[in-house]
Amino acid sequence: MPVESLHDLFVEELRDMYDGEKRLLRALPKMAKAASDGDLQDAFRSHLKETERQVGRLEQVFKTVSEKPRGKKCDGIMGIVEEGNKAIEELEEGPVLDAALIAGGQKVEHYEIASYGTLAYFAELLGNDRAKELLGQTLDEEKAADEKLNEIAKSDVNRRALTGEGEEEDEGALVRVGRAARRGASAMGFANDKRRASRGSRKSGSQRRR
Ligand code: FE
Ligand code: ZN
Ligand code: FE
Repeated sequence: MPVESLHDLFVEELRDMYDGEKRLLRALPKMAKAASDGDLQDAFRSHLKETERQVGRLEQVFKTVSEKPRGKKCDGIMGIVEEGNKAIEELEEGPVLDAALIAGGQKVEHYEIASYGTLAYFAELLGNDRAKELLGQTLDEEKAADEKLNEIAKSDVNRRALTGEGEEEDEGALVRVGRAARRGASAMGFANDKRRASRGSRKSGSQRRR
């Protein structure tokens, strides 16, 4: 189909995300399995459930434009998933792999936020209110998934990756490591507000391998 109008481009982008979400349905269980941190496993599993609903929502959007749901290879998500697979192959299970999985997960979420943001706006321009609403719901879920991964990274996982220490550390050591990690993170210019950082170190004792 030649893409000649905003409507055509809208359908092309829908197909891209339909393919992308289906790739994520296959990737998320592998990511959950490869993760050591219990909160991270939960985050990937609950986003898998959400992703199933997002596929259903895309099918409803196809209906609003009288098109059959059909995917078109999403090179973007395929590439990010491929990088994640490489990390799973090459890294040992533990905090460094967890940090890599979070990084990959956030890259996917950012790709999806850009795509659904664009799609929702196209729907608005095209006067397709139902599609705009459905795409907006998914957009909100992707933003929340990104934020959740951010919280997990900052609460515990990246700090352990920094020191290579496992989860079996005594509380005092973790707090000391936490301070060092926060200094390191702020030196690198990461947003790392104190409130969230301290919430993280209180939580750290409860995150044990399941
Ligand atoms: Fe998604
Ligand atoms: Zn794509
Ligand atoms: Fe997502």
